[in-house]
Amino acid sequence: RPTDAAVRLTNDEASVAKARCHELGYFDDPLAAAFAPRGPAKRGGGGTHHEPLINRGYYARVRAMRAMIDAFMDASLPGDDDEDDDRDIVSLGAGFDTSYFRLLAAGRAPGLFVEVDYGEVARKKAEIVRARRERFFGDREDEMTNALVNLADGSYHGDGGGGDDDDASFRDVFGYRLLSADLRDVATLERKLLDLPGYDAEIPTLFLAECCLAYVEPEEAAAVIALAARLSSSAPAAAFVLYDPIGPDDAFGVQMGLNLRARGCPLRGVAGAPTLEAQRERFQARGWARAGAMDMNDACDRLARRDASDHLRMTRLEMLDEVEEFRMMLAHYCVAWGVNE
Ligand code: SAH
Repeated sequence: RPTDAAVRLTNDEASVAKARCHELGYFDDPLAAAFAPRGPAKRGGGGTHHEPLINRGYYARVRAMRAMIDAFMDASLPGDDDEDDDRDIVSLGAGFDTSYFRLLAAGRAPGLFVEVDYGEVARKKAEIVRARRERFFGDREDEMTNALVNLADGSYHGDGGGGDDDDASFRDVFGYRLLSADLRDVATLERKLLDLPGYDAEIPTLFLAECCLAYVEPEEAAAVIALAARLSSSAPAAAFVLYDPIGPDDAFGVQMGLNLRARGCPLRGVAGAPTLEAQRERFQARGWARAGAMDMNDACDRLARRDASDHLRMTRLEMLDEVEEFRMMLAHYCVAWGVNE
């Protein structure tokens, strides 16, 4: 479908923006640049007076998602014990996000980190990672030669070459999977996940969906959320964290929708959960016992309270003229989550 290509382009845009934020010091994402297409034309907003607005938006988005991921990795969860506190992360519409490599570099990669995206995106990501193995895996690059084995369906799996699951290096390096799947086909997605070597439905699992469910139809997004609840129903704990636009109906939201539509990636799914309340209700209606949601103003204020010095440092990087517009923009994005324990 022609618009699928436009949706995939939003991934290039995210990489460019995240690389730019790294360059300017908003947050560390040293590997984002490896994925960012080059050239001024690709820099959405680059060099304009809107850029600080965009960069601060990414600061809030990335910091908030990282806080959620780190909370999941650090939490002592039911089912953990001293021997085995392993867990899985499944990143839906992962694009060129570098979270896995951030955790790997910090020595805290989960046992399995699965990234789901279209075959085109998975292939491109695998190519880039392979071509710069030493940047992604440091002194582990040799182990990595086998770790992205191309499967017939366009997915990439680790091949531990006889390593077993109790071996930390197997878990660290070979637990990385790029899964080629369309989120709109949950039956196939479910089969592919269950067939993944190393996939363990019985351990705590975090599902992530950063800027992707809004691009599919409401019922398709809801089906993905329900699938995640079903897949993790025998795990002692599971969570689903998403980041998406909300508030499509006011003047700002309408303009945001028109801009994206003009670029060929209409926000098809926003109507399925247009408010914070609807975001929470969707999780609860689709198999998640507890749910929460906050808009990015709220998230930003919490981040500022939690790490005041980083927030102050960030605000000094670039002048922000349009404070009102910034608050307005942040009010139109949210993080939302469902938790089962
Ligand atoms: N999560 C990443 C990328 C966001 S861009 C980040 O936040 O940086 C949105 C991603 O979702 C793109 O990579 C796009 O290809 C993917 N995506 C959108 N619809 C999808 C679908 N139906 N199936 C699989 N991936 C999809």
